[in-house]
Amino acid sequence: MSRSIQIVEVGPRDGLQSEPDVLPTETKLELISRLVEAGLRRIEVASFVHPKRVPQMADAEAVMTGLPSRADVQYVGLILNRKGFDRALAAGCTEVGMVTAATESFAQRNQGASIEDTLRAWEEIAPLARASGIRAQITVSVVFGCPFEGEVPVQRVVDLVKRIAQSNPIEIAIADTIGVAVPDQVSAVLREVRAAVPHIPLRCHFHNTRNTAIANAYAAVNAGVNTLDASVGGIGGCPFAPNATGNVATEDLLYMLSRSGFETGIDLRRLIDTARWLEAQRARVIPSMLSKAGPFPQALQ
Ligand code: ZN
Repeated sequence: MSRSIQIVEVGPRDGLQSEPDVLPTETKLELISRLVEAGLRRIEVASFVHPKRVPQMADAEAVMTGLPSRADVQYVGLILNRKGFDRALAAGCTEVGMVTAATESFAQRNQGASIEDTLRAWEEIAPLARASGIRAQITVSVVFGCPFEGEVPVQRVVDLVKRIAQSNPIEIAIADTIGVAVPDQVSAVLREVRAAVPHIPLRCHFHNTRNTAIANAYAAVNAGVNTLDASVGGIGGCPFAPNATGNVATEDLLYMLSRSGFETGIDLRRLIDTARWLEAQRARVIPSMLSKAGPFPQALQ
């Protein structure tokens, strides 16, 4: 049996949130439906943040209402605080993704809160989510480098994940929010994090800002990580991180994984079709490579 890797599709949230033009709700819903049809089973569909901060996500509730009803799909809502959690819960999310940061400057810029404030919010939310039957996980952003503080000491990340682990997240995500990591750094950081919280599943989140995301993803898989974020077409960025560009493209990641013998349950051709469809909706070229080059061999899938 080949090893399974789960891809979490973050295009409808992380991918779209820094787009200059707000996509109509119906277009977002079609995007999500296409992703479900392609085989994605965990999709970050909305962000429950203040609409003034992220106008692209102002229709979070409307998106949730219009989603295809699928018991086998986790619709993930991104939250930054208790208020966001309450909205996500009311809107029917089956999973919430909370965010904290490895540096104070980024926590302030991204969430308008200190690291300690975000951890306390998380410690309040985690048991509430459990009591409501909702999956709750948390992302540590800027683990591999911060746009405001530069290099991030690994020990700080280790201390953070140890604290987070005390409230039993279903998973901790280690994020290269601004796309500065390189594979050996990914291996080294994951080794330390894994040793610090051996019982908590890890997920990785890579941006391709410096063209290292696919190599970093491969390093993470080799380090034992079974879950990776990706965004269809490689769209994305971060409105609060200067010059952060797209996530690793889902179709590029899928190609690399499937040709390396990993199972994902995703249909590459449908995914490429979705990326090309999305490109037409945005009327702008998407960064992914597979959407241009196509799969190999042509008969694949
Ligand atoms: Zn991101």
